[in-house]
Amino acid sequence: MVGADPAPLDIAIIGGGPAGLMAAEAASHSGRRVAVFDVMPSVGRKFLLAGRGGLNLTHAEPFDAFIRRYGERSEIVGRWLAVFGPSQVREWAQELGIATFVGSSGRVFPREMKAAPLLRAWLSRLRARGIAFHPRHRWCGWEIAATAAHRLRFTTPAGAGEYSATAVILALGGGSWARLGSDGRWMALLAAKGIPLQPLRPANCGFDVAWSPYWREHLAARHAGQPVKTMSARLVRADGGSFEQRGEFVLTANGIEGSLIYALSAPLRDAIATDGHAELLLDLLPDRPLDGLRRQLSRSPGRDSWTTWLRRSVGLGSVKTALLRELTDPSQRRNPDLLAAAIKALPLRLVATRPLDEAISSAGGVDFTALDADLMFKDWPGIFCAGEMLDWEAPTGGYLLTACLASGRVAGNGAVRWLRRLREEHR
Ligand SMILES: Cc1cc2nc3c(=O)[nH]c(=O)nc-3n(C[C@H](O)[C@H](O)[C@H](O)COP(=O)(O)OP(=O)(O)OC[C@H]3O[C@@H](n4cnc5c(N)ncnc54)[C@H](O)[C@@H]3O)c2cc1C
Repeated sequence: MVGADPAPLDIAIIGGGPAGLMAAEAASHSGRRVAVFDVMPSVGRKFLLAGRGGLNLTHAEPFDAFIRRYGERSEIVGRWLAVFGPSQVREWAQELGIATFVGSSGRVFPREMKAAPLLRAWLSRLRARGIAFHPRHRWCGWEIAATAAHRLRFTTPAGAGEYSATAVILALGGGSWARLGSDGRWMALLAAKGIPLQPLRPANCGFDVAWSPYWREHLAARHAGQPVKTMSARLVRADGGSFEQRGEFVLTANGIEGSLIYALSAPLRDAIATDGHAELLLDLLPDRPLDGLRRQLSRSPGRDSWTTWLRRSVGLGSVKTALLRELTDPSQRRNPDLLAAAIKALPLRLVATRPLDEAISSAGGVDFTALDADLMFKDWPGIFCAGEMLDWEAPTGGYLLTACLASGRVAGNGAVRWLRRLREEHR
């Protein structure tokens, strides 16, 4: 049996993403025996993937605005961020020798725009502080003990493994990009113990569009990957709630994705779940007032093609023109008033979210009613949870990593405090 160590670990951390590693860091000052287990051959794989986009670590906006990004969970996440917030994230990176900078949109990145140097420095500091790492260990079950150490079961390439630990921190990630380890299979293990869970759902995800057969056959491949730049999109929900975002998105073979869409993805996803579809109103020229457009479009195109005329008269690029053609009918295109109105509010019908596995992050997970302020299960003293596996969500912009790191810090501190309390009770 792998790992049949008679002396229990003080703290076993399962999941070596940013949340688990930050929990290990918090515990590493305590002189306790701490080990990190991960199913993958090495830890931090999704963190490294995030580095491909430059590694947006956090955001430099004011703290009040920052915590509002967590929507209904602002209060809970705000408490973690009071312990380890955006400025602590930057200080922590700096301590590891990684300078950060604030980009034009307020997003904070490592100066080198890479995750690997930061992860390397972080792991070597954790190892130097005595944290043990057990890669290729899939956690597959447990016996939770009321008084003694908890028994954890793993599968490893060398066979079944068992470890015991007085405190356990679960930091198993969400349910996207399963090939990097975060496959959400832990949901079944927790559900079997009666832990309240919210279903995992895609967040910061792309959407399928109900394109016409002509678009699918002739245009989808041509436009896939093309950005639709500087525009604004509005979603008006059936209950009157309205969401608006300016930015850009990318056309895909099936629909759309990209930063503008990710920012609206939670209300879009929820509208699709309720109504079966969501309608986005696109403003293709957000800086041009409707009246001016009407005037420009009432002039004759002369011998110009429609595409050339739209480019010359109102500055509409070819991808936006293709979208306009796809989403209007000929009578609208012939009438300057209707055409101007369509440019300012072009309805795009989204019919499905892309699958969870393709999403940047997941919503849903462990319900906060099960946890105390230290992220310890109320019914199971000594078992903690951190990171994306908890039921919160946030847009891209560094909010995901910041909250994962902060929750890891809270759970790590909580586990150390809990072990101290246990020792005092047994004196
Ligand atoms: C393409 C992409 C780009 C991103 N870019 C950014 C960005 O720039 N900024 C930002 O803030 N966020 C970004 N994110 C999101 C961010 O990477 C995640 O929110 C974050 O990694 C979640 O951290 P975590 O520690 O909770 O989980 P994870 O990083 O998912 O780690 C969970 C770990 O648990 C392990 N595990 C799971 N199940 C088991 C098991 N049964 N046994 C043992 N181990 C297990 C996994 O192998 C994994 O190592 C990006 C995500 C993606 C997909």
